[in-house]
Amino acid sequence: MSSSSYTVINPADESVVSVVEHVDLAGTDDAIARAVDAQKKWARLAPAARAGALRDFAAAVDADIETLAGLETRNSGHPIGQARWEAGHVRDVLNYYSASPERLFGTQIPVAGGLDVTFHEPLGVVGVITPWNFPMTIAAWGFVPALAAGNAVLLKPAEWTPLTSIRLGELGLEAGLPEGLFQVLPGRGSVVGNRFVTHEAVRKVVFTGSTAVGKQIMAGCADQVKRVTLELGGKSANIVFDDSDLEKAAATAPYSVFDNAGQDCCARSRILVQESVYERFMELLEPAVKGVKVGDPTDEATEMGPLVSAAHHAAVSDYVPADAPVAFRGTAPTGPGFWFAPTVLLPASGTDRTVTDEIFGPVVTVQRFKDEAEGVRMANDTEYGLSGSIWTRDVSRALRVSRAIESGNLSVNSHSSVRYSTPFGGFKQSGLGRELGPDAPLAFTDTKNVFISVEELS
Ligand code: NAP
Ligand code: MG
Repeated sequence: MSSSSYTVINPADESVVSVVEHVDLAGTDDAIARAVDAQKKWARLAPAARAGALRDFAAAVDADIETLAGLETRNSGHPIGQARWEAGHVRDVLNYYSASPERLFGTQIPVAGGLDVTFHEPLGVVGVITPWNFPMTIAAWGFVPALAAGNAVLLKPAEWTPLTSIRLGELGLEAGLPEGLFQVLPGRGSVVGNRFVTHEAVRKVVFTGSTAVGKQIMAGCADQVKRVTLELGGKSANIVFDDSDLEKAAATAPYSVFDNAGQDCCARSRILVQESVYERFMELLEPAVKGVKVGDPTDEATEMGPLVSAAHHAAVSDYVPADAPVAFRGTAPTGPGFWFAPTVLLPASGTDRTVTDEIFGPVVTVQRFKDEAEGVRMANDTEYGLSGSIWTRDVSRALRVSRAIESGNLSVNSHSSVRYSTPFGGFKQSGLGRELGPDAPLAFTDTKNVFISVEELS
C-alpha cells in the first residue's frame, strides 16, 4: 500500500477486496473548481428538471441494489439483508427529496410600501464527510437534500469504506446528473476532508463521525463562518420500567445495540432496568443475547457480522479484558475475520469507562435504577444525547420521560431511530443541526429577503 492508495480488506475473512487510489490536495482543488461550475448550471435548471434528475438517480440506485449491497458486505461486513436495506434506503431518500426542488417555498410577508418575499438560495458547493459504519445511508442523508436544494456536492467517504460511495458517484453520472455536480473523492480525512474546511468555495461541511474530529471541523469552519452540520457519537440509554412488556423489551434489546456489530451511533449501549424487575429481565435477556446469529455476512440468515477492521477490533477488545465483569456473551466465529461476540457487562460503577465511553462495538452495560427520577438522571448522565428507548405501558410516564431525556431521537416501546421523513440529530455533544425530515433541504440554503418598492398612484 503506497501513501496514495488504500487496500480494502474484507473484515469477514481478511482477504483483499480492492485497492483504491486516493485523491490528493491538487485533485481536491480541481474537483472543487468543477463543482463550482456545475452548481451554477444546476441551480439555473427548471425545478422540475432537477426533480426529474433525482428520480432518475433513484431509479439507477434501485436497479443496482444487488451490486451496492454486495460491495457493502465485502467492504464493511454488513449482513447481506441489512446491506440491501441500506441501498434501498438511499433510493427512498432520493425519491423523497426529489419532491423538494418544486416545493422550496419562500414566504411573502406583508410590509408597507411594496412587496416582500424570501428566497431559499443554495449555498453553492457542499462537502460531505462520512464515517465507516453506515457508508451509504449517511452519505445519502447529506448529498441528497443538498442536491435537492440546488447545491453541488463533494463526498469524502471514510478511508476504510469507500466502495459503495464510489459506486453511487458512478450511478449519479449514469443516471444523467451533470458532470461535476456530485463527485466522490476517496482520500484521507486530513487531506481531502480538511480541504473542505479550508477551501473558500466550499460553503458548508456536513460531518458525521467522532466527536473529537467534529470539534476540530467546527473550529476550522469558524474561520470562514462556514456552515456546518455535525452528527457525532452517542451513548444512548434503553430504559426498562417495571410496568413494561418485559418479554418484548428483553427480546429486542440485543438488536438495539448489536445491530451492525454495535457500530451504530444510535446503539442503545446502556440498558437501565428498574430494580424490581431486574432479575427477571436478566433471565430473559440471556437467551436473547445468545440467540443473535453472528456469522458469515453473505448468509441470508446472519444478523450480525464482524467488526470493520483489525484496528477497531483491538479498540473494542480493550474494553473487555480477561477480568471484565461479564454477565454473559453470545457467540462468534473463530478463525480469520474481526469477530467479536455480543457481550453484556455489569459495571461496578456509573463512572466506569464502559458506561461513559462510546465503545462502538457489540458491548452493552446493564445498570439498575430505583424510580423514574433516578432512571432519567442516569440516562442523562452523559455528554451525549443522540437516541434512546423507553419501555413502559404508562402513557403519562412515556411522555414525561420522553420530554425529560436530553436526546434528539427517542422511541417508546420500540428501538426505531431513523426514518427519512423525520428529523434526525443529536443534543449536547452528539451533534449540531438536523438531517432528514421535511426541512432538511433548508439546511443547505441561506434565506434571502427581497423588498420591491411599489409606487402609489398619485
Ligand atoms: P472519524 O475518525 O471522526 O472519521 C469520520 C470521517 O472524518 C472519516 O471520513 C475521516 O477520514 C474524516 N476525518 C478524519 N480526520 C479528519 C480531519 N482532520 N478533517 C476532516 N475529516 C477528517 O470517525 P469514525 O471513526 O470514522 O466513525 C466513528 C464515529 O462516528 C463514532 O463516534 C460514531 O458515533 C460516529 N457516528 C455518528 C453518526 C451520527 O449520525 N451521529 C453516525 C455514524 C457514526 P478517514 O477515514 O481518512 O480517517
Ligand atoms: Mg477515525
